[in-house]
Amino acid sequence: MSSVLHLARPELLDLVPYSHAEWEPTLERLHANELPWRAPGDNSPAGLNRYPEPQPQRLIDQLADLYDVAPEQVLVGRGSDEAIDLLVRAFCRAQQDQIMVCPPTFGMYEVAARIQGAEVIEVPLDRARGFALDEAAILGSWRPGTKLLFLCSPNNPTGNLLDSAVIERIVARLADEAVVVVDEAYGEFSNAESFSALLENHVNLVVLRTLSKAYALAGARCGVLLADPPVVSLLRRLIPPYAVPSPTLDAALAALEPPHLAMARAKVEGVIAERERVAAALRTSALVAEIWPSSANFLLIRCTDADRAFRAAVERGLLVRDLRRRAALENCLRITIGTAEQNDRLLAALGAA
Ligand SMILES: *Cc1c(COP(=O)(O)O)cnc(C)c1O
Repeated sequence: MSSVLHLARPELLDLVPYSHAEWEPTLERLHANELPWRAPGDNSPAGLNRYPEPQPQRLIDQLADLYDVAPEQVLVGRGSDEAIDLLVRAFCRAQQDQIMVCPPTFGMYEVAARIQGAEVIEVPLDRARGFALDEAAILGSWRPGTKLLFLCSPNNPTGNLLDSAVIERIVARLADEAVVVVDEAYGEFSNAESFSALLENHVNLVVLRTLSKAYALAGARCGVLLADPPVVSLLRRLIPPYAVPSPTLDAALAALEPPHLAMARAKVEGVIAERERVAAALRTSALVAEIWPSSANFLLIRCTDADRAFRAAVERGLLVRDLRRRAALENCLRITIGTAEQNDRLLAALGAA
């Protein structure tokens, strides 16, 4: 099976990447213009005076285990935000190519495209069918130059899983035409199979994962892109050198130790239980007109009076996400599931039983 590199910006295929200082831990480093001692207060294992390993192999191996793929299919960067940016830069020629998104969805796809000078084709999710994909409209809106299709499942901010059979058909139909990116930032909170299991059969599929949500490491900035090895090696040549800071590496390796993984899974189970409890209680609130089923760690609600609901939360010291100005989300708020105590306070603010 060939790769999708024919869709990439041609001038990048033979780009000579930045040549960073060699990684040779058995020798002493007089080759990278670092200072040989630590800054005051630096208690880190490796020393922050040293540049980190460019793509840290141990972390890549452990992430490959976690997501059940090969290490050659893994790219690590500063959050999936960096992976999104790299994809757009690798595939979209400025003023010529497009990405396709299905709003309402995560805003970074569009922002990354606009920064790169790529046009954004919008094919809205079908709200009447619970924000489902519009397969015919997606395929019908594709045109030569539409290099990337971003699908988010579970989708932010609507919370629903997209139909995996539909996604698979789209991936197959666009096999030579576009890269389909399935963003699974909230996958751990759902009961769906990861699309990473399909990477072997579809070279135009990319899966995004992150340690920001289910592993409680949003501040560490560690995102993961899973793809066909030629795509990963192209992106490895584009990613800024030393893309994984040493504190990020330490935090990620600690989170991936088996006992910590087990704790994270238990916490996720707790979030799911709280999500269902909060959703049930919100149904009793006169301020809430509609609650969409969620496979993530948040709930999308439509309010009878969103302004009052938002202010009532703030009065109890709680900030929720105001989505009222987004198309198809009039009167909607997005509520992240917090601790049981925070959730109780939110329910009280909204007058739920
Ligand atoms: C939170 C989120 C991410 C994660 O971004 P990071 O840069 O990894 O923190 C990715 N995609 C979606 C849809 C998100 O909501």
